[in-house]
Amino acid sequence: MGAKGFFRGLTDRTQSASQHAGAGLPSNAILPGNTTARLGILEDFEKAGFGWLWASDPEGRLIYISESATQSTGREPVEMLGKHLTELFETDPDNPDERSDRPFKFQLSARSRIVDLAVRFALGKSKHEAKQTWWSFSAQPILDGAGSFKGYRGIAKDITTEYERKLVDSRMAEFDSLTGLANRHRMANRLDSLLATYVAAKRSCAVMMLDLDRFKHVNDTLGHQAGDELLKQVADRLHHVVLDRGEIGRLGGDEFQIILPDTDDRGSLGELADKIIQVLSQPYPLNGERATIGASVGIAIAPYDGLDREDVVHSADLALYVAKNGGRGQFRFYTTNLKDRAEERRILMEDLREALAGDALELHYQPIVRVEDNMVIGFEALMRWEHPERGSVSPALFIPIAEESNLIIELGEWALQRACREAAQLPRSVTIAVNVSALQFTHPGFPEMVANAITQSGLEPERLELELTESVFMGDSESIDQTFKALKQLGVRLALDDFGTGYSSLSYLRSAPFDKIKVDKSFVDTCTQKDLNSAKIIAAIIGLSNALGMHVVVEGVEAFDQLGVVKDMGARYIQGWIYSKALAIETVRERLSSGEFCIEPDGPEQYRSDRRTVFRRIGIIHEDHRYAGVLRDISRTGARVEGLLGVPEGTELVLDLGSGQLAVCSVIRSRDAMIGVEFETPLVNDGEGGLCTRHRVSPYALAAAGMPLEALPAGNYPMQMIKGSGDSQSKPQFVEVKTPGG
Ligand code: C2E
Ligand code: CA
Ligand code: CA
Repeated sequence: MGAKGFFRGLTDRTQSASQHAGAGLPSNAILPGNTTARLGILEDFEKAGFGWLWASDPEGRLIYISESATQSTGREPVEMLGKHLTELFETDPDNPDERSDRPFKFQLSARSRIVDLAVRFALGKSKHEAKQTWWSFSAQPILDGAGSFKGYRGIAKDITTEYERKLVDSRMAEFDSLTGLANRHRMANRLDSLLATYVAAKRSCAVMMLDLDRFKHVNDTLGHQAGDELLKQVADRLHHVVLDRGEIGRLGGDEFQIILPDTDDRGSLGELADKIIQVLSQPYPLNGERATIGASVGIAIAPYDGLDREDVVHSADLALYVAKNGGRGQFRFYTTNLKDRAEERRILMEDLREALAGDALELHYQPIVRVEDNMVIGFEALMRWEHPERGSVSPALFIPIAEESNLIIELGEWALQRACREAAQLPRSVTIAVNVSALQFTHPGFPEMVANAITQSGLEPERLELELTESVFMGDSESIDQTFKALKQLGVRLALDDFGTGYSSLSYLRSAPFDKIKVDKSFVDTCTQKDLNSAKIIAAIIGLSNALGMHVVVEGVEAFDQLGVVKDMGARYIQGWIYSKALAIETVRERLSSGEFCIEPDGPEQYRSDRRTVFRRIGIIHEDHRYAGVLRDISRTGARVEGLLGVPEGTELVLDLGSGQLAVCSVIRSRDAMIGVEFETPLVNDGEGGLCTRHRVSPYALAAAGMPLEALPAGNYPMQMIKGSGDSQSKPQFVEVKTPGG
């Protein structure tokens, strides 16, 4: 039979079936009126296990359920009958399936039709019970002739196996199987939905991007398994720091993200970022080996730095990029001028390359003084660069730039050779310390480079001291140990620099052959503050070093009150401005020519906090007028500003520091065009040694004042935007004077 015939046959048969129907029913057919027989079918259906039947009364209490259903739960029918459906079943609060998002309770009270709703059998509510049972529920509301609700009639079935598989699948789709953290997909969804609702509610949300420094190196040298183990430990540590303040995700590789809802305080964000960097930088035990990595963090805050996910994440990414380039182990906030700064650094790197090639760099030498007799026992070589246009550029700025590329290796080699050559001409009684960047230290040819510098200059190796920071320990321990061994064989001395900042793990002291520890200036800065432990920490470091047979140099002593404290704490060697700043080699030679070089301490009685000298154009706002001014210096608590005449003490002002940073302050000193102000709220650390305001002008507030809702634009905002009021009525009260260079 061909296809045609087959179809015809089909048609024929259909016809004959309908003919049958017309011809009369088989004798055993069950008609609607036959209640007993119909019940029999229902019973067979219930027993077959395709599903169960149930019914509720108008109040939602269970009045019927198939016996096999109660059996499957291990309960007696009486335990279930009469109970409200919501007592017996609940929807999964973590259900990723959107259909079930409308809570069960809500659907029941709305008396709406229920289709394939997954519910958990909840009787007794022991959620920790080993086996949870999942049911799929469907039900039809029954109305009587008058249209009033009579209850539900429904079917249900056990879907535990499928449901649990689905949960596992969706976990895999949403979570990173290695660390258990949310994956990129989930983080993106979370951020999308958070930000969508936050804009309407005028809420803020911070996003941190995190990147591990030198993770790849660990992975390459210790293997992937060790790398995986390390990532798990990173995830654990992150949980410990972040707690329930936000959601942590792993976006892939060594890239992490943290979403922090309702957070816009840059003070607390900076502290959190610092804490994260600190905690992640502690050594990791990896089955017998030890590895150390670092972390960099970029921070952006919605709506300030972007309204939607793409923009906020892009901003945080850019901040992370700048943080990584600023020397590792740092955090950065996104600001509108980050892009300009990246460009500025690029230019500076070029200039530095030229300076090195053109022999425009110098070393200056800062004396290290023995406290008991004020005798100079050695010097630290510090790089100095006189830029043709910018004047002197601090190594604190250009060294991190050099560290972005191999330039640091060349720069370091130059410093080592120059220092050895110049030190070889000095009396044998003085030592010379040279700073070594971590990148330089881990560079394969480093010990050889040191050996060459020694032989070419003729300097006695024991007079050369290499200053290393704890960041040299990043990476795998084996090659680090080898480098240490090679250096010790050369006979040079090793100093642990900046001790007490960053990682501060005592295990370094055990594992590496240091001859000296240099206590970081930050402890000295705060050692006269009774409420802080700095003085005690200095004493503890000195005690520990003595016990280990190491010398201690305390760095950054500027004032007599600090000198008193550090002497009391047992300091015997000091390097600080109270004795001397770094000196040109000619000066050093001249002072040493008389044989001995002694320096009497000289400086202020009291240390003045972190006041920085700056020169920056800012806005000064008084009532509804903005004046132009110049910021002369700034500290956490106050500033000096030039540009307004005749401002009485006690006047309330607002400094517009740019990019939406408004600092409310009051005038505490006023002389000619120079005013000193005190901030209402202290400024906070901006991550790169500068200061910023905790809060910025909210884009929501700007929108309320008539601007479009957008991330903060660069520059200053019109007065009425800031003040939220209309046109200015009053006359300016103060006289603006033109400042030099303005
Ligand atoms: P560092 O190794 O901690 O050097 C000490 C820094 O503290 C120097 O800053 C020094 O001038 C400053 N200092 C010393 N006593 C005082 C004090 O009493 N008060 C204050 N406020 N500061 C004091 P400098 O010369 O600006 O160097 C900054 C950093 O740049 C150095 O910190 C070091 O990390 C890096 N650096 C400088 N020269 C080299 C170099 O040749 N190679 C490498 N790799 N890094 C270098
Ligand atoms: Ca140093
Ligand atoms: Ca130091």
